[in-house]
Amino acid sequence: MTKHFNTYSEPNRIAEAVEALAELTEPQRPFTRLVFSPEFSRARQWLQERFEAAGLECQIDAGGSLIGTRKAPAASESPGKIIIGSHVDTVPAGGRFDGIAGVVAGLEAIHFLNAQRIDLPFDLEIVDFLGEELNVWGTSCLGSRHMAGLLTDDILDRVDQDGRRLGDEIERIGGTGKPASGPRPDAQSILACLELHIEQSDRLETDQIDIGIVTDIPGISRYSITVTGSAGHSGTTRMEGRRDALVTASDIIMTAREIARSIAAQDNRHFVATIGRIEVYPNGAATVPGEVKMILDLRASNEHSRDMFMEQLHAASLETSRRESCDVGIERISEASVAHMDDALRQRLARSADHLGLSHINLSSGAGHDMAHMSRIAPSAMIFIPCKGGLSHCPEELTTPDAIARGSAVLIRTLLDMAG
Ligand SMILES: [Zn+2]
Repeated sequence: MTKHFNTYSEPNRIAEAVEALAELTEPQRPFTRLVFSPEFSRARQWLQERFEAAGLECQIDAGGSLIGTRKAPAASESPGKIIIGSHVDTVPAGGRFDGIAGVVAGLEAIHFLNAQRIDLPFDLEIVDFLGEELNVWGTSCLGSRHMAGLLTDDILDRVDQDGRRLGDEIERIGGTGKPASGPRPDAQSILACLELHIEQSDRLETDQIDIGIVTDIPGISRYSITVTGSAGHSGTTRMEGRRDALVTASDIIMTAREIARSIAAQDNRHFVATIGRIEVYPNGAATVPGEVKMILDLRASNEHSRDMFMEQLHAASLETSRRESCDVGIERISEASVAHMDDALRQRLARSADHLGLSHINLSSGAGHDMAHMSRIAPSAMIFIPCKGGLSHCPEELTTPDAIARGSAVLIRTLLDMAG
């Protein structure tokens, strides 16, 4: 028999928690709670109080993530653990739900288990992963990277424009500020890592689907593209024979979009390419542009599509460079492989949704998430819930307490399923 999601979680309690966190923002710029800011510390304090009130043992791990643990009964032998987590930091002028929904859903699981006096045969950790959003040090997902053993000295040594060293900031909020020597020592005992998140796109809302079960988190690859021409006087350099780096760069931008569109149309999984950053030198109104530097951001669920895109872009750029008499250099800055969510966990999530009478579909994530890193060390999976108009990273970001309650009910059903 299907049970209504309200049996498992309470939309009113969810709304109240979301509201409380929304108030912890930079007052002039809602909703802003940057990692390491005073608002962030207040949110951490609020969360820790909630964790402790619900009976969780709290700790800040070496990477600065806040972990609240509900222990398995002492009788259980080597019980293993399940992690439910997301993040409470935001981007500047972000929303009330990105990350927050997932942490609140984890708390709902604890409230349900406490109310029903259910002992699980494994430890349950609710985690606020440190600094999931991209920060001024240029690295996202600090907490999950650290757990996965991927936070290195060169990242921790970065200093922002106010002279704050990243490692020192992590130490200040309770982590060690040191690189991880490897994955979390108890990684082997993690049975599952689960995250609920708003979709940040509009597929679920448009198709009126309750739950998205994430198949994969695309690898993000970035390349720098440098176009070199010849600067010159805009009044005296004749049109014929100009080596205009910006004209050449414009051609490459348009070509990149054409190639990306055609690949996206053939690839039934996630594929997007963006040139979002461009610098023009010398950037003078009376000077023919001599050099352009751009950054290409590629996100693909299918590495073959990524490689095909780059191959076609290289070929097209070579042709443009000959036609426009400019040099074009393309260099890889970073390349991450696709993170696949665990098949068995995905099936469990689907069964839980079925049990609750909730509609669900499989989809790729457009954005990066902590589960991309956690999936390298433990079986991981994510569910998405609808958000209005697919808007995210802006104050208009919106989902409903009912949508979060449906999602947390799926997580809770999955916990019960795994507990047998
Ligand atoms: Zn997020």
